Amino acid sequence: MKPSTEPTIFDRILAGDVPCDRVYEDDHCLCFRDIHPQAPTHLLVIPKKRIVNVMSAQPEDAAALGHLLLGAAAAARAVGLDPHGYRLVFNNGNHGGQTVAYLHCHILGGRPMGWPPG
Ligand code: AMP
Repeated sequence: MKPSTEPTIFDRILAGDVPCDRVYEDDHCLCFRDIHPQAPTHLLVIPKKRIVNVMSAQPEDAAALGHLLLGAAAAARAVGLDPHGYRLVFNNGNHGGQTVAYLHCHILGGRPMGWPPG
């Protein structure tokens, strides 16, 4: 999945051009509810710095990547997922099932998750 000059849907959400059901935001990331939830709670966390995916991340993205995980933990805590836990998923490229070319962390919770994933 190559970087595109076209803004993705997540660029547009971050810019405020497309609405989202926001649950958490800080200086480095934004978290909102997935529009097609795959679990009782399904959130997406995106960095405010534009990164396409983990595969394309560079050493200078280390802080943004670290903040993304801390943001995911804060968002999950804010919606009450901590007592039972949750799953974090990063889909990368075609075989990873990535459909939006903007790095995002899925937070899935509210039920036990199966393994292996599909
Ligand atoms: P992925 O397949 O890993 O690239 O995940 C992209 C996710 O973005 C999917 O789970 C979609 O349901 C979700 N999605 C797409 N458009 C929106 C939107 N406007 N608001 C919230 N979630 C969205």
